Amino acid sequence: MAETTDVVFAGGGIIGLAAAWEAAQRGLSVRVVDPAPGRGAAWVAAGMLAPVTESSFGEEALTRLFLAASASWPGFASRLKTATGWDTGFRACGAIAVALDASDRAQIDQLLDFQHGLGLEASRLSATDCRSLVPVLSPAVRGGALMPGDHQVDNRALVLSLIDGCVRAGVKLTSDRVVSVSLDRKGAATGVVTEGGEIYLAGTVVLAAGVDTPAIGGLPEGVLPPVRPVKGHVARLRAQPDGEAFSHTVRGLVHGHHSYLVPRADGSVVVGATSEERGYDTTVQAGAVHSLLDDARLLVPAVDEWEFVECIAGLRPASPDNAPFVGPTSVPRLLVATGHYRNGFLLAPITAESVATYIATGSVPPPLDAFPVDRRFPAARTGSDL
Ligand SMILES: Cc1cc2nc3c(=O)[nH]c(=O)nc-3n(C[C@H](O)[C@H](O)[C@H](O)COP(=O)(O)OP(=O)(O)OC[C@H]3O[C@@H](n4cnc5c(N)ncnc54)[C@H](O)[C@@H]3O)c2cc1C
Repeated sequence: MAETTDVVFAGGGIIGLAAAWEAAQRGLSVRVVDPAPGRGAAWVAAGMLAPVTESSFGEEALTRLFLAASASWPGFASRLKTATGWDTGFRACGAIAVALDASDRAQIDQLLDFQHGLGLEASRLSATDCRSLVPVLSPAVRGGALMPGDHQVDNRALVLSLIDGCVRAGVKLTSDRVVSVSLDRKGAATGVVTEGGEIYLAGTVVLAAGVDTPAIGGLPEGVLPPVRPVKGHVARLRAQPDGEAFSHTVRGLVHGHHSYLVPRADGSVVVGATSEERGYDTTVQAGAVHSLLDDARLLVPAVDEWEFVECIAGLRPASPDNAPFVGPTSVPRLLVATGHYRNGFLLAPITAESVATYIATGSVPPPLDAFPVDRRFPAARTGSDL
């Protein structure tokens, strides 16, 4: 049997890695068990840190969480850089939302009213303003909005720097899959059991396996919160050999479809994303590649000239109310950190802080305490509403 640690994480995606690193920074001994750390949804994602663009009607509490999460990003990125020397590609780039037709324009205006009602920083842009901020935009763009507080991080650089940060901080990375949680006679969590037949004992067990969290066994029914996979395809293109192709993230409404182009410092551009309820399927489908590129080239005609690098699909861990599940469960010494849906990157630092704080104090700090793991949902609300 392996050495006991203070904490064991089942899952080292963006959430497990960030929380493991934070816990190790605070002096805890930590193990992360994952067969392929950082290669789940974290590897696919676009890395937008978009509290304003992601704000949605009826989700005011979630928007407050997004804003707090966004505020924790500069400190987190700078601490990680100091610890590892890696540049995570965290950039205060700002985002613009652009509309292709009158109905898209009306939708952006409606969202702007909502954002202003919440006191969020966003301003209306004319078509000319949009093109002066992002000259590669199509002349067909009808106008839009500027969200100066929406930023980005390079998702893959961040994952790799967190793995390095964890190793440097003494976190044990174990390549195996967790099959169940082990419990003592009083029903408290004592560790995890793996596919390889190992038992890793720990003072606290954190389940952070993204969409696979509910499949972890050994627990009484109803302990784990409802998380479902929402498939997303993303394409990566190379616009130029070096240097960003344009500065702001572009969030487009293309005849009612959502589309985005995220420019990276190395000249590549991430184009996303589909949103599909297809269970645990990550095959890349031709129709999805077609629709991603079709919408992108309507926004930015130069896309036709760019190099096609890859298309990849991943599974967002979604909850019924789009908010994450971070905190204790009804099983003593068992926490979960999952359900981050479209915003796992934005929420990673605040989740990491909250997990580490819970382990030290026994309380989930605000604003994540507004979303207890055992919250209940109206039975009628299903995935098709989201
Ligand atoms: C197309 C797309 C675009 C996205 N864009 C953005 C964006 O721009 N901004 C943003 O903030 N978020 C974005 N997201 C969402 C973000 O990627 C997720 O919210 C985030 O990755 C969730 O983190 P996680 O660690 O919970 O899950 P994951 O990143 O999926 O990691 C889960 C980890 O658990 C491991 N695992 C699974 N089962 C087990 C097991 N039994 N035992 C041990 N380990 C296990 C896996 O190997 C994996 O490493 C996007 C997602 C997709 C799919």
